[in-house]
Amino acid sequence: MSIRHHLDEATLLSYAAGSLSQGMALVVACHLSMCPQCRERAAAQEAVGGSLLEDLAPAQVSADTLDNLLAMLDVSAETMAEVQAETVRKETAPEERARQTGSHLPAPLGDYLPYALEDVPWKKLVSGISYYDLDCQSGGVSRLMRIAPGKNILPHTHKGNELTLVLQGSFCDEIGRFARGDIADLDEQVEHQPLVDSNVDCICLIATDAPLKFTTLLGRLVQPVTGF
Ligand SMILES: [Zn+2]
Repeated sequence: MSIRHHLDEATLLSYAAGSLSQGMALVVACHLSMCPQCRERAAAQEAVGGSLLEDLAPAQVSADTLDNLLAMLDVSAETMAEVQAETVRKETAPEERARQTGSHLPAPLGDYLPYALEDVPWKKLVSGISYYDLDCQSGGVSRLMRIAPGKNILPHTHKGNELTLVLQGSFCDEIGRFARGDIADLDEQVEHQPLVDSNVDCICLIATDAPLKFTTLLGRLVQPVTGF
């Protein structure tokens, strides 16, 4: 698998800072699980953050303050170790795991989707397009979309950011061609109309931090129904 479309620098930073919505963080974690290149970039960002901390000038503190601080550091070091172990568990070697289990699901998605990809109870949106909403506690949309070959997704722009990760099949739009592992990291400047060009259904994981804004009449009609 060769991934050609990667995460924005800004998105990676926001992920590391924990400032993405739960749905968008899930898409990022799934891409990281599939993409060694972005895992390296994320690790490099963490290293830069660490060295910035080391460069800070030391300040004079009283013995009490120092004790308190050390006690706090103990706790946070333990918490950090737990968080990092969890992250590593979710982000490493899922492609190998996927091959072993015959599943096409990135490991982080497993916590949100209690089905194999073949068994997802899809809800039909329009002919050839169905979806399944994930239970993410955040604003915006977090869902799987399944689009039949030759189908267009409705042209739309975004009020906020949209992340789309391809899990199966492929689509192309004004920006390029997106296949398994590729991520479309779009902001509100972009209007696009993706067309599925694979001969199997294209299945994508999509998250927005604000509702999509459809630009066609059909889009505006289905928007209140679908919650897009
Ligand atoms: Zn990547």
